[in-house]
Amino acid sequence: MQWKEQLLTLKPYQPGRPIESVKREYGLENIVKLASNENPFGASPKAVEALKEAVTNFAIYPDGYATKLRESMCDFLKVNQNQLIFGNGADNLIQIVSRAFLLPGKNTVMPSPSFSQYKHNAIVDGAEIREIPLNDGEHDLESMLKAIDENTAVVWVCSPNNPTGLHISKEKLVSFLDRVPDQTLVVIDDAYHDYVVADDFYDSVDFAKTYKNVIVVRTFSKIYGIASLRIGYGIAHEDIIRALEPVREPFNVNTLGQIAAIAAINDQEYVEECKKKNRDGMAQFELFCKEKQLKYFPSQANFILIDFGTSGDEVFQYLLERGYIVRSGNALGFPTSVRVTVGSTEENNGVIEVMTQYLQEKAAISN
Ligand SMILES: *Cc1c(COP(=O)(O)O)cnc(C)c1O
Repeated sequence: MQWKEQLLTLKPYQPGRPIESVKREYGLENIVKLASNENPFGASPKAVEALKEAVTNFAIYPDGYATKLRESMCDFLKVNQNQLIFGNGADNLIQIVSRAFLLPGKNTVMPSPSFSQYKHNAIVDGAEIREIPLNDGEHDLESMLKAIDENTAVVWVCSPNNPTGLHISKEKLVSFLDRVPDQTLVVIDDAYHDYVVADDFYDSVDFAKTYKNVIVVRTFSKIYGIASLRIGYGIAHEDIIRALEPVREPFNVNTLGQIAAIAAINDQEYVEECKKKNRDGMAQFELFCKEKQLKYFPSQANFILIDFGTSGDEVFQYLLERGYIVRSGNALGFPTSVRVTVGSTEENNGVIEVMTQYLQEKAAISN
């Protein structure tokens, strides 16, 4: 058959192992999943309540315009209805952008390592990929600018970046946006913006309002705690949204997701609480790293990339067998690290204890 050539070598996304199968294999009663940057405290109780009360006729298609959610988001963001596009998760928006802009003959510029889906979609769509290495965990925006030419359709920035957790300062991002040519779309992946506490951060909605070649992509999967319901959205100039809309599947955002997202966005008190708890949890990990003299990136997100100086796969396996699922840095471009999602205080203490045990066993072997 006449497959696109690039599909023949492309691997599907490797999801983490199902919790039940890990339990069975290692005879564990409890598993703590700190692998996908989900909110350890779950969704806002108000979103849970809204779902319980949702009387829905499951035979009816969702509202393809997401009317009520759109209205709530317009109030919240102070944007117009035609400046928003919704997706089945932010992943879906990345796919929509890629589908709309990328094809053979075009190229796309992205940081590396960063979120896998920019590259994955670009491969499927057949565009040339220009990966610009991070500079000590940060975007090398100057080199990214240099890599842009007249055939660069899309440039991706991820701030805070997954998997390093480092953000771009407002000053640097503005200077970058000012110099990206008008005919190149900039995607600002804002998946973790709610977690950022740094003083020099920005409100990306301002950029979506001022630059006609910017789309901000956000998700309800992280701090909002409804990853299973798959809601993401993009904010951009109305001309961008209008051109993207035909690429979107008509019913890509499900009914229950729309209901939960409205309740979640209206509970900013809960978001604030989660943000604060995340910083407390982050402090636990930073203290651990300092005590054990492990290198780490000072993350502004809800995960931390810790360099054990040994095989990340080995650390991953050690933790897995003791009930903690993290991500090995090996698959993320940092082979000697693991990426750990900040959990509850208790979960953090638990995983830190096992990591300490790992280091002690390692030291005992080498002595
Ligand atoms: C988690 C994540 C996404 C995808 O979020 P979904 O809305 O669940 O698809 C996008 N970008 C980054 C950087 C992420 O970490």
